[in-house]
Amino acid sequence: MAYKKIEQYDEHTTKELMENYRNSIALLGEDPAREGLLKTPERLAKAMQYITQGYQMDAHAILNSAKFHETVSEMIVVKDIELYSMCEHHMLPFFGKAHIAYIPNGWITGLSKIARVVDVYARRLQVQERLTVQIMDAIKDTLNPLGIAVVIEAQHLCMMMRGVQKQNSVTTTSAFDGEFQKNSTRSEFLKLITARLS
Ligand SMILES: [Zn+2]
Repeated sequence: MAYKKIEQYDEHTTKELMENYRNSIALLGEDPAREGLLKTPERLAKAMQYITQGYQMDAHAILNSAKFHETVSEMIVVKDIELYSMCEHHMLPFFGKAHIAYIPNGWITGLSKIARVVDVYARRLQVQERLTVQIMDAIKDTLNPLGIAVVIEAQHLCMMMRGVQKQNSVTTTSAFDGEFQKNSTRSEFLKLITARLS
């Protein structure tokens, strides 16, 4: 989901982060005064603020801002939502896709709002399990659906670049509530998200 990128960064935070990153670069054995690295602390300070901007966002407010009364009670599925987050244990990225479904109970929301809720929680220091549940809870709290399902498939750079180096492993997490606790509803959803258009 492309929405307006925050171009304004808190000056004090940026300055403090730059100082820290300059020190980190030196501690890692590099010369922070080397030409190619001169602007790196500033770029990194801004990139990190962008990547963690979810702390300043309110998922409930986003969902409530586009909540519509609707009598449809068919399963609504939004699949393949791009997701970029940061593992809180290593502060390295994990990325993949989220698939979300809900069965309305009188209320629906804009499809783009679902994708924004993913960003709100992904743009923080996270673990994939918590991210999955937070997305589910925000939708559950605001739309009170008959059922909700969230599945996230992600690859973690902390696993791929270091340690076990399982380069192709994908971690899947899921959370189901209400109607999706029934086998038949859950299977229908899983079939929908694994189906490819031919
Ligand atoms: Zn990690």
